[in-house]
Amino acid sequence: MRLSELFTKTVRNAPADEVSKNAQLLIRAGFVYKEMAGVYAYLPLGLRVIDKIKQIVREEMNAINSQEIIMTSLQRKEIWEQTGRWDDELVDIWFKTQLKDETEIGLGWSHEEPIVEMLKQYVQSYKDLPVSVYQFQTKLRNELRAKSGIMRGREFVMKDMYSLHSSAEDLDSYYNQAIEAYKRVFNRLGIGDDTYVTFASGGAFTKFSHEFQTICDAGEDVIYLHRGRNIAINEEVLDDAMAEMGVTRDELEEVKTAEVGNIFNFGTDKTDTMGLKFTDSEGKQVSAYLGSYGIGITRVMGVVVEKLSDDKGIVWPDSIAPAKVFLVQLGENEAVKNHAEALYKLLSDKGIEVLYDDRDLRAGQKFADAELMGMPYRVTISDRLEADGKVEFSVRKTGVTEVLTQDELLAKLG
Ligand code: ATP
Ligand code: MG
Repeated sequence: MRLSELFTKTVRNAPADEVSKNAQLLIRAGFVYKEMAGVYAYLPLGLRVIDKIKQIVREEMNAINSQEIIMTSLQRKEIWEQTGRWDDELVDIWFKTQLKDETEIGLGWSHEEPIVEMLKQYVQSYKDLPVSVYQFQTKLRNELRAKSGIMRGREFVMKDMYSLHSSAEDLDSYYNQAIEAYKRVFNRLGIGDDTYVTFASGGAFTKFSHEFQTICDAGEDVIYLHRGRNIAINEEVLDDAMAEMGVTRDELEEVKTAEVGNIFNFGTDKTDTMGLKFTDSEGKQVSAYLGSYGIGITRVMGVVVEKLSDDKGIVWPDSIAPAKVFLVQLGENEAVKNHAEALYKLLSDKGIEVLYDDRDLRAGQKFADAELMGMPYRVTISDRLEADGKVEFSVRKTGVTEVLTQDELLAKLG
């Protein structure tokens, strides 16, 4: 991708009302556009990040045999009335609207009930189980506060997955597979070391649910951590979980975190209420066991920005950077231009993604943009090194810079 052709530009200042670091940096770097508080559009570079996060999640969900679908944003009131969750007293984040004939409908803040309703049509017998489905969907939530940038949107992308099973044991086993899949996701996203499987308040069926909480100063949650034993507990269930795990308060460290994912065991609670039954091997009609598993795709992107950025800008991990290399061409020298064009082509042909700064700008501006936008590696081609056919190679995360021949460069980027 050539920067001269990209319609977005970096800007010096984020909107004055934007208080969060993640949104400030993403807006300044031209990755997102702020529509209103808690509502952000994703521009070409931001969309690339989102797509890469989704692809990692998709691969790991496919690996545990889940099937991708897309549900709808427009939802029927009757579906939610079955569980009482149409009621604004119970769910205070609904956006609701009406059809022309005044039929009330809801805009999807969650898809738990609609997915269970949909699966009723396809699950009749124990032979139809287990089944797992997932989607990437824009959720709409009328959140009271939206001061955390893309970490708490009124419109945001979630991956939500649902699994149905014929027994509690089968659900437990899948639930554990999902925990392992989530760990692989967060490792691949570059935040695995700081992400903890955390005891949280349960549904009606189990004592605890599990949240994936990432240590992050800008997060809205507080957890208690035993690093040695790898135990993490959300403050909301502290006493119960301490008793369960045999730890005391003075052994635990209080840390601020962001909830990047969560998983729930609903047992047969929701399927009982909604009437999702199947015929078991003895011919009896019984309720299926339900698990639900979320990841905040756009929130994760915000958390990565919050955690890995520095005073100069964003620092993307290789796995989700919009491009691996930021290629800078400096000066008007024809030989430099030709060299940069040739290297751009060579790297692109090798499947290495390059953001090519072919703009007619001063070196200082190009370097500042490279740092703000945060590609993992910067490669500079300039008059100074051209005579030797060498390039400057710089690592965004460490700032370490060296002069390399083309072969050495290719080996590094291999
Ligand atoms: P929170 O406690 O942060 O409000 P939640 O418990 O309501 O989240 P779920 O409804 O279970 O979360 O959603 C699954 C995941 O979606 C969460 O773990 C989180 O990562 C993400 N998420 C939830 N609300 C938002 C939001 N408003 N903006 C961005 N991501 C969100
Ligand atoms: Mg929560």
